This record gives sequence, C-alpha cells and structure tokens, in this order.
Amino acid sequence: MEVKTFGVIGAGQMGNGIAQVAATSGLAVIMNDIKQEFVDRGLANIAKNLQRSVDKGKLAADEKDRILGRITTSVNLADMARADYVVEAASENEAIKFKIFQTLEEVCPPHVILASNTSSIPIGRIASNTRRPDKVIGMHFMNPVPVMKLVEVICGLATSPETLETTLELTRRMDKTPARSNDYPGFIANRILMPMINEAVFCLYHGVGEREDIDTVMKLGMNHPMGPLALADLIGLDTCLAILNTLYQGLGDPKYRPCPLLRQYVEAGWLGRKSGRGFYTY
Ligand code: NAD
Repeated sequence: MEVKTFGVIGAGQMGNGIAQVAATSGLAVIMNDIKQEFVDRGLANIAKNLQRSVDKGKLAADEKDRILGRITTSVNLADMARADYVVEAASENEAIKFKIFQTLEEVCPPHVILASNTSSIPIGRIASNTRRPDKVIGMHFMNPVPVMKLVEVICGLATSPETLETTLELTRRMDKTPARSNDYPGFIANRILMPMINEAVFCLYHGVGEREDIDTVMKLGMNHPMGPLALADLIGLDTCLAILNTLYQGLGDPKYRPCPLLRQYVEAGWLGRKSGRGFYTY
C-alpha cells in the first residue's frame, strides 16, 4: 500500500522526531497532541533541528522550508481521517493509548494501518482496542529519532503480512533499518536495556558508586556512548519507570522490579532532561 499522508499522535520528544523524519522522506505529516502549545513546541523543535543541519551545511535552506511545509498540526484526533498510516507516540500509559486506538478505530478508514511507538506495551493488547487487529503493529523508533538508525518492528499475533510489509517499506523510506521482534513486554530493545538502567539506579541507591562513576564505568569500560544514568535522563525517568512496570507485571519476574529510587524521582517530578532535573541537572 502506498502511504502519502502520515499521522503522528503525540508531539513530544519521540513524536516530533518521527514527524521530522517522515516529512524529510517526502510524506505529508499531520502531527497531533492534546494542546496547541504542545504541537507548537514540537514543531519548534523540528525547526531547530533542521536549522542545525542547515548551519552545518548538511541541508539546503530551501529544503528545510519544504520539509516544514509538509507538516500540519492538529489538536483533534478526528483530523487523522485524512491520514493513510498513523503512528501513535503519546505517553507510555496503557489507558491513554487504549483510548487513542479506540478513537482512531472510529475516525480512520478501515484500510488504514495503526502503529504504536510504545516502548513496552504488547501490541496485541493495544490491537484489542480496535476491530482491525490485522492492521495494528509496533513501529518502535529510537531516541533521538533523526539520529538513530534502528526501528524495532513488532507484529502482534493478528498482524497481517501486508501490514508488516508496508511498515518495513515505510521504515526504509525514512532511511531507517528495521529489526523484527516478537510481541512480548519490552520487545527486544527494552527487555535488554531497561534491566541495565535499573541496575545502574540500584548501584546509586545502594551506594556502590557515585552517578559520575557509574556512568564513567559503562562509557569507558564498556564503550557505551553514554552512561546508563545519563541515558535514563534522556529517555525520561517516567518512561523508564513505565517500561519497568510493564516488564515486571507482564513477565511476573521480580528481577524487573523498578528501583525505589527511580520511583521516588518520578514521584518528585524529576523526569530527566525534559523536566530539567533527573540524575543530573540540566
Ligand atoms: P513525551 O512525554 O516527550 O511526549 C508524550 C506526548 O504525548 C506529550 O506531548 C503528551 O502531551 C502527548 N499526549 C498524551 N496524551 C495524548 C493524547 N491523548 N493524544 C495526543 N497526545 C497525547 O514522551 P516520549 O518520550 O515522546 O514518548 C512517547 C512514546 O514513545 C511512549 O510510548 C514511549 O514509551 C515511546 N518511546 C520513548 C523513547 C524515549 O527514549 N523517550 C524511545 C522509544 C519509544
């Protein structure tokens, strides 16, 4: 199926990144969030990113304008009636995502594929909120979206081969490399990443090391580009906690229990970079 108009739900750090790469690949993009100020902030972030590429000589100024010209904003999910492929990138919260998929089911024509950028919630569970589970799929981009090459593609039990094929084509069109995962909590990426981040938080909690030392060990000792605590701040501590809860509940294994320190930070509103404070101050 040829995709021309691409809907993105959520204009946060992932949503605006996805909108940027989709518009750069030539697609018309509708970027939606619950408030005008959120879509405006998302659009401003895209403009800032593209301007940085212009300043570095990697992008022509008129091409930047063309990319921005392909993005329209929306604060009403009914606008998704015009999209022929939709990716949901709203907050990592089951109730929010379920409601969005129930609404999309009513709003979008039956042939439209509904993808989720969820980090951890099983695709089959999201699909059960629609009458088109064959057209529901996971399209899990990495952060920061314009930089990271990977898209984890997750088929639920009912996802059709056509839906998979269209999603793989779209991934490649956006200059990304797909890797396929089966539909279990956290998929591949966060099944491996989150226990590592959680263990780093436990190291801080138990006083095994200071935050800088924990991050330095993983950067210089394991050749990771950033330490796990800095990475948690980049991802968002609320998102990390939500993913760990999904792993813990979905797999029923105590090894995935979130560290109490992580929970305490999230309850205090210390969410990482997006709130100005997490394990580090920004
Ligand atoms: P974020 O907090 O930056 O943005 C979430 C956005 O969703 C906010 O702007 C919020 O207003 C919006 N939103 C909430 N309810 C909505 C609704 N009903 N309709 C429309 N918009 C709504 O979070 P994020 O980091 O962009 O994460 C978004 C999704 O991407 C989550 O599912 C997350 O797990 C996933 N994800 C995150 C990362 C990461 O590193 N942060 C990586 C991969 C995937």
